[in-house]
Amino acid sequence: MSDKNTRKKIIVAGGGAAGCMAAIAACASGADVTLIEKNKTVAKKILSTGNGKCNFCHDVIRPEDYHLKADDGFITSVLEAYPVEKCLEDFKKMGITPLIRDGYVYPYSEQAKSVTEVLTRSLKGVNVVTECSVTAIKKDGDKYIVKTTGKDFTSDAVIVTCGGEAAPVTGSSGEGYKFAGAFGLKRNKPVPALTSLTVKDHPYKKAAGVRIRGTVSVLIDGKEAGSDTGQIQITKTGFSGIPVFNVSRFASRALDEGKKVSVRIKFLPELFDEEIRSEFETRLSRAGQSAYDAMIGLFPDSFADALLRNAGIDPDKKTADAAKATDKLFKASRHMQAEVTGTGDMASSQVTCGGVMLSEIDASTMECIKHKGLYLAGEVLDIDGMCGGYNLYFAWASGYIAGTSAAR
Ligand SMILES: Cc1cc2nc3c(=O)[nH]c(=O)nc-3n(C[C@H](O)[C@H](O)[C@H](O)COP(=O)(O)OP(=O)(O)OC[C@H]3O[C@@H](n4cnc5c(N)ncnc54)[C@H](O)[C@@H]3O)c2cc1C
Repeated sequence: MSDKNTRKKIIVAGGGAAGCMAAIAACASGADVTLIEKNKTVAKKILSTGNGKCNFCHDVIRPEDYHLKADDGFITSVLEAYPVEKCLEDFKKMGITPLIRDGYVYPYSEQAKSVTEVLTRSLKGVNVVTECSVTAIKKDGDKYIVKTTGKDFTSDAVIVTCGGEAAPVTGSSGEGYKFAGAFGLKRNKPVPALTSLTVKDHPYKKAAGVRIRGTVSVLIDGKEAGSDTGQIQITKTGFSGIPVFNVSRFASRALDEGKKVSVRIKFLPELFDEEIRSEFETRLSRAGQSAYDAMIGLFPDSFADALLRNAGIDPDKKTADAAKATDKLFKASRHMQAEVTGTGDMASSQVTCGGVMLSEIDASTMECIKHKGLYLAGEVLDIDGMCGGYNLYFAWASGYIAGTSAAR
């Protein structure tokens, strides 16, 4: 390795997933790297990912797994430069044996802590400065001056990996936008994504706590913006769970723009309309059974009760006209619609929708197009993916690309 004085000096601002990966990659490429992290330890957010198990990647990743305005090749370029196979291989080298379930990749230990531990160990050649916040980044000739709550640092390149605004308790409180803004980089307003929805006149309030499968669609000014199928969690104020998370970014953005947002849910998503009608009619026609009894085994109990009441059917009585009741029940279970009044806030959301515009960045290097030596990676950029390991993959991949490019 070359002498420390001749090695390229790189500062990485923010020690989350992207920052750790950028620092590891830059160091492995021969650079003299300093990683500055405001928390006591690096990668704090990782500990809470995947319900403490860290769903750190997905076995197959395609551009459509991200919400991109137009597929301008940005994510395709990232996938080419750092394929999923390389990501999994790099984690294996660090000690993480993958456990793949329905495409979701976890460490075999099923402990997010394993991921933070291997990242921390892999940073051994990096000068890691913790409990230190970057306060400003400035250009001075061909060098960068990174001001912090401790001393100032001078470097040849800076990689900004401060994250977005989601889960600020883990350290990501939007400072990356401020640093990018000082260089004139444009951004899309950050709003919460991968979060819950709150609805007006909640039709299933009484079924709060129930988990049930369904297809959730977000409608903006009456037009479908996004849809997903999976297990929905009914809450006291609305809906949560993976399919709701996956469509929440559309609601967040539209509400922020003052548009009218509603959510439509189709329960029993695996069944065709005719199968459902026939199932309801058969059940409601059974002799001597109350409407509630007729639903046993099809829906969870408190949900069945709420569904029948929403459909205008008395759960405690036998329906007089099974065909008419079937129509009502069909409408209530397949065309449930409610006005969305809000989403979970940044504190309870998993990612940020919005951030520094991708048009400011060269996807092949993560370098800022207008400022040589300034790199951005991870959630600070305007890219958000679905649940399933896509967001962490983007953090690793963009961090790796930024780290290797900056060290060149
Ligand atoms: C509860 C939860 C569960 C999730 N589960 C998953 C999952 O299972 N799979 C998945 O793919 N994604 C998941 N995500 C999303 C994923 O964790 C993020 O997209 C990813 O961590 C973003 O990485 P990042 O490095 O860009 O930002 P962050 O991880 O937010 O890291 C930014 C770092 O920069 C530091 N920092 C910020 N400002 C400064 C400053 N001024 N000076 C110094 N340091 C600074 C912060 O302290 C932080 O350590 C989850 C998120 C949450 C909140």
